[in-house]
Amino acid sequence: MSSFKRFLDSSLTQQKHIGLYRERILIPEDVIDFSSNDYLGLKDNPSTKQKLCQFIEKLSLGSGASALISGYTQIQRELEDFLAKFKETESCIVVGSGYMANIGLLQAITEPEDIIFSDQLNHASIIDGIRLSKAKKIIYNHLDLNQLEEGLRKNKTSGKKIIVTDSVFSMDGDIAPLKELTYLSEKYDAVLIIDEAHATGVLGKEGKGTLNYFNIKPSENIVQIGTLSKAVGSYGAFICGTKLLIDFLVNKMRSVIFTTALSPVQNFISLENLKILKEDSIRRKKLFENIELFLFLSKKAGIQVRFYGTPILTVLTYDPFKTVLMRDKLLEKGFYVGAVRPPTVPEGLSRLRITITSKHTDEQIQNFVITLKEVLFG
Ligand SMILES: *Cc1c(COP(=O)(O)O)cnc(C)c1O
Repeated sequence: MSSFKRFLDSSLTQQKHIGLYRERILIPEDVIDFSSNDYLGLKDNPSTKQKLCQFIEKLSLGSGASALISGYTQIQRELEDFLAKFKETESCIVVGSGYMANIGLLQAITEPEDIIFSDQLNHASIIDGIRLSKAKKIIYNHLDLNQLEEGLRKNKTSGKKIIVTDSVFSMDGDIAPLKELTYLSEKYDAVLIIDEAHATGVLGKEGKGTLNYFNIKPSENIVQIGTLSKAVGSYGAFICGTKLLIDFLVNKMRSVIFTTALSPVQNFISLENLKILKEDSIRRKKLFENIELFLFLSKKAGIQVRFYGTPILTVLTYDPFKTVLMRDKLLEKGFYVGAVRPPTVPEGLSRLRITITSKHTDEQIQNFVITLKEVLFG
C-alpha cells in the first residue's frame, strides 16, 4: 500500500472507531428536514424563481473574473447597496461565502502586534481566520465577559485589539451579549467583529440582525459579517462597515482579490430574497410561532430542549455513537436532524441540532415531537 493510501485509510478507520465518521446524506424527498438553516423557507421561494426566469436573459451565468479585474457587476453593486442600507452602515462588500469572509477579513486587518480575543465557541471559519492572521490570539471561555475584560485590560500592545464573536452561536443557538461587548470594545479601544450568519433575517426589526435586536447603532469600530446562504436562502456573504474599511478590504483581502466574483445569477437571487425577507414580517412571525409550538410540545413530552430565543434548538446526547444512532432512527421514521459531534462541538457534548423554519406545519411539528420522544426514551 502506498503511504498516501495508508494515511487515508487509517485516518478514516480511526474516525469510524471513535464515532466521528462523516457522510454526506441525500435526504429523501418525503423526509421532513429539521436541520436546515433556511429559517424563512426562502431557498425554494416560488416568486424569486419566477423573477429569475423573467430576468435570466439579461444575466450572465458567471462573473468571468475577480471583482478587481472585470467580475464586478451592476447586480453585485445593487446587492451591496441594499445590504449597507439594511445593516445601517456606510458600505458593504459581497464575497464568495461566510467562510471566505471570515478567513479573508481576519487575515487582512491584522498585524503581528495585534491581539484577537475570540469566544471559545466561535465558528470554524473564524478559527481558521485567526490561524491565517498574524496576530496573537486569546480565547476566552464562552460568553465569559469577566475573563474577556481581564484579558483586554492586562494585555498591553502597541497594535490593535480585536474582539470577534458569533452573534448567534451556530451549534447552541445562544445570543452573544452585544451591549456588554460593545461597551468593552469602546472602553478598551477594540474593534468588534460580529458574525451574523444565523441572525440575519431572523433577529431584529425586518430581520436586520443582532445590533438592531439590542438597539445598538452600528459604529465605526463594529464590523458585521453575514452569510447569504442561511435565512437569505441563496449563496455568498457580506461584510458591512465604514467606507474606509471596505476600501481597505478591496485592496488587501486575499479572498476577494484572488478569487472569481460571485455569479450575477446568485447575486440576483440574494437580492430578491433579501427584499422579501425585509418586507415580509409574516414569515418571521410564523417562524417564532413554530418555535413556540415545538417548545411547548417537547416540554409536555418531557424532552429537555436547550432554547435561547433563536431557531437553533439542541438536545444533548453527549455520546457521538448514540447521537448518530438517534439521527438514523429519526431518519427511518421520516425526520432529519443534525448529529453534531466533535470537533464541531466540544468533546462529550454531542447533540441533536434541531432547527425550526417558517415552512414547518403544525402537523409536522406535532409528529416530529412524538417521534423524537419515541427515539429518545423508547
Ligand atoms: C455558516 C456559518 C459561516 C459560514 O458561512 P458560509 O456562507 O456557509 O460559508 C460562518 N460563520 C458562522 C457563524 C456560520 O454559522
